[in-house]
Amino acid sequence: MRRSILLYLFGIVTPALVLLYLGLQSVDRQRQAIATLGESNRVLAAEKLASRVQQRSRELTAECLKQGTGCEIAAHFFNFADGRLTSPRVRSIVPSDPAILQPAFLQAESLELQERRLDDAVNAYRALYKSSGPVPLKAFALSRVARCLDKLHRKAEALSAWQQLLRDYGNVYDPAGRPYSLTARFELGQIEGIFDELIQYRWNLSAEQFDYYMSRLNRTAPAGNRFEFARELEEHFQPAAPLREGEIYSFALPHGQVMYRAEQPGHLKGLSVNSRWIEETLTPALRRELNLPQVGEPQSNRELWIYGGTMALVVAVLLLGVVFVIRDARREVRMSRLRADFVSGVSHELKTPLTLIRLYGETLLHGGDFPENERRDFCEIITRESERLSLLVQRVLSFSSIDRGEKAYTLQTGDLAAVIAGIVEIYRNYLERSGFEVEARLIEELPDIRFDAEAVSQAVVNLLENAVKYSGESKFIGIRLRADAGNAVFEVEDRGIGISPAECGKIFQRFYRSPNGAGKGGYGLGLFLVRHIMDAHLGRVEVESEPGVGSLFRLVFPVAA
Ligand code: ADP
Repeated sequence: MRRSILLYLFGIVTPALVLLYLGLQSVDRQRQAIATLGESNRVLAAEKLASRVQQRSRELTAECLKQGTGCEIAAHFFNFADGRLTSPRVRSIVPSDPAILQPAFLQAESLELQERRLDDAVNAYRALYKSSGPVPLKAFALSRVARCLDKLHRKAEALSAWQQLLRDYGNVYDPAGRPYSLTARFELGQIEGIFDELIQYRWNLSAEQFDYYMSRLNRTAPAGNRFEFARELEEHFQPAAPLREGEIYSFALPHGQVMYRAEQPGHLKGLSVNSRWIEETLTPALRRELNLPQVGEPQSNRELWIYGGTMALVVAVLLLGVVFVIRDARREVRMSRLRADFVSGVSHELKTPLTLIRLYGETLLHGGDFPENERRDFCEIITRESERLSLLVQRVLSFSSIDRGEKAYTLQTGDLAAVIAGIVEIYRNYLERSGFEVEARLIEELPDIRFDAEAVSQAVVNLLENAVKYSGESKFIGIRLRADAGNAVFEVEDRGIGISPAECGKIFQRFYRSPNGAGKGGYGLGLFLVRHIMDAHLGRVEVESEPGVGSLFRLVFPVAA
């Protein structure tokens, strides 16, 4: 058996495992090759995609610059003229409007700033404001009126002047390029909404002015705003030279990319690319257009899964085989050990009656004269021991024919009550002589039952023998035969050592001996034979038992149909 396990292990399992190992290795190599190929494909695809994105960006830039207004690709626009950034502006413009620098205005300014005659200055500015001069002059004069009134602490008048400025000239810019709307609102303390106007580029400001207002508001401008871009552009941008008209060029800034083209000699127009839109909208769209896998799309590992799964299944089946083989082998080993024990046990059992028979036989033959009663005792011992011997031999023969699968029973319809009564009668004498109290209640009439008389006798004797063997101190045996629900029921009851519930399920197995029976002789065959006999009669054997209280064995024979 051990040889067959080893054969199985080495002949099937080992080659299968080797094959599995080689298979996995080759699949892994294939996978690596596919991965390398996939990697270079990915690189190629990425290059293709990048060049397509660039190309499309140029096309979109050209369209966008032609339209000149908001389009998705543009984050900010810019203009370059004669090597300088003209919009968005970084620095503020220097006031130089000649309309404002006319003598009347300069006079009023001198009254205010040099002579410090503020009341006269107010009147002079007011006169200018009321004159029919150009709008920027009137607005500027009004702002000076308000400023002088502030200095004179004529609060109410000053406020109404600022309000008027806000109302009438809010959209006008002062000579330094600041909108009166913002100046007046800061003076009036109406700063709500200014932050939003600033970051939505409502006013045409320079980066310096933008920062100035932000600091007055005590706020920080959002990252990536137009003025940040303007500063970066002014610092880093270098247009290509020479520039071909109409062609789109690109330039990388530290925080982004710009695209531009020459509008006319010396003039450039361009935009900063909205990198987020490129990444989130344009690139995926082009990726789809080029039929490239989307980012995060899983690589297929199907082959590996199929191969791995099949192999895992094969290994599982093989391992299951190993488990079964080992289990069978262990069972077989246990059985052969039990058989060996059985043979030595039986030989031992044979020796005792044989020795007694020989001893008493020789004593009778050569021992001279014995009183009649002693001779009788000797003869009885010889008879009893030969009976035990034949019982033992009968059991062994029955078992071996069952074991070979050759045991045949001859079932005949007959009087079961008479057969059982006969055996009980023979046994009863023996039991009573051994000091047992026997309570036998056997009915005499039973319905017709098909049975094998010899086998039934053996079953009955086995139960009675066990009752004697496992009675311990008790000397009571109850024997009953009755008809019950159409069945014939035979019971043997003792008040002996009993059987634990866990053992009750096992005592009918071949060679099973419970520890409670230690030292009582026997080899675990009696009940096995009883069950086999009852199965052959389509009946059953039952046991009710409690350790220390006693046991009741019941044979149930079905009535012949
Ligand atoms: P054995 O030759 O050991 O008696 P059996 O098959 O007749 O073999 O019995 C199996 C085991 O069942 C016994 O070893 C014993 O432990 C238990 N057994 C059988 N009959 C009784 C009984 N009447 N009382 C207690 N235990 C019993």
